[in-house]
Amino acid sequence: MQIEKVKNMKNICPNCEKKTELQHIKTTEDIIVKGEGINVPVEYYKCLECGAEFDDPKSKHDPLALAYKEYRRRHGMMQPKEIRELRQRHGLTQKEFCKLLGWGDATLSRYENGALQDSTHNTILEMIKDPRNLLSLIELQGDFLAEEKRKKLIGLLENAVEETHSFPFIYSEHFGKYSPDILSGFKELNLNRLFQAIIFFCVGGVLKTKLCKLLFYADFKHYKNYASSITGVRYVHLKFGPVPDKYRYYFATLENEEKAISVDEVNFGEYVGEMFYADKDSVLSVFSNSEIKTLIEVKEYFKNFGAKSIKDFSHNEKGYKETYDGQIISYAYSDDLQI
Ligand SMILES: [Zn+2]
Repeated sequence: MQIEKVKNMKNICPNCEKKTELQHIKTTEDIIVKGEGINVPVEYYKCLECGAEFDDPKSKHDPLALAYKEYRRRHGMMQPKEIRELRQRHGLTQKEFCKLLGWGDATLSRYENGALQDSTHNTILEMIKDPRNLLSLIELQGDFLAEEKRKKLIGLLENAVEETHSFPFIYSEHFGKYSPDILSGFKELNLNRLFQAIIFFCVGGVLKTKLCKLLFYADFKHYKNYASSITGVRYVHLKFGPVPDKYRYYFATLENEEKAISVDEVNFGEYVGEMFYADKDSVLSVFSNSEIKTLIEVKEYFKNFGAKSIKDFSHNEKGYKETYDGQIISYAYSDDLQI
């Protein structure tokens, strides 16, 4: 065990009850989660008088929670916040949700509060993220729900199914698929969300350079706060800052095939820019609450940034500075994101 940082303080030791020198120890420790060693930061105090070791009651560090978070990240499992959101999005209580899935009453409450989910349970949760699957489940096993609630839920899910299948799903083959990993923010590329996010940022008009950065910040900020990206898009280091991989195709599809955005050339003296406008409303129901919150925060944060200032700002990102032209920027850099 290697001690990284030591900061002593005089205080009462809870063990020997003497006013003494307490050594503050910050180090890392391997926690074993399902047979897998996960290195996490830990901190505690050691009394130099009696040698007792104890936790800092004020510390927000929960090594086990961090280890679980990392384990879920590595295995592409849902994080507790996502599970809670999935349930809340459909207006179901924890008990109703458990009953629907045939789980014990307390199961969901445990998962939402940080217990590591069983991998079979995780698969089921992943499956019902698709509104088609949840819809079938409600139709087959939702009898216990109040009639009114059940009907309303079925109506909402039918709409959601229609939205998912009328929009970009059909382009999946064209844009290719990659498995979720650290380069995609542990999400599968989700064109529907990507396209809706683009439309969202185009409302009111946005320059192409700025649009690319807004998408980058939305995905990286969401990853920073919730351990998964929004769209599953990979971002590439280009001269003008980070941009979504294949961004030209995405924009062209939205402009030419979907007629969801239109593009105008604008002159800034010797420089010509492309201004993007939304011609359709962004369908926000494809996003979770935390994703919507992130999109709004990013749009608001950069409200007064022009194309040049956001480009300069993005050039200061560690993930940009430490990558070269054409390289994919890992979401691991989101820890150092400036926003
Ligand atoms: Zn002591």
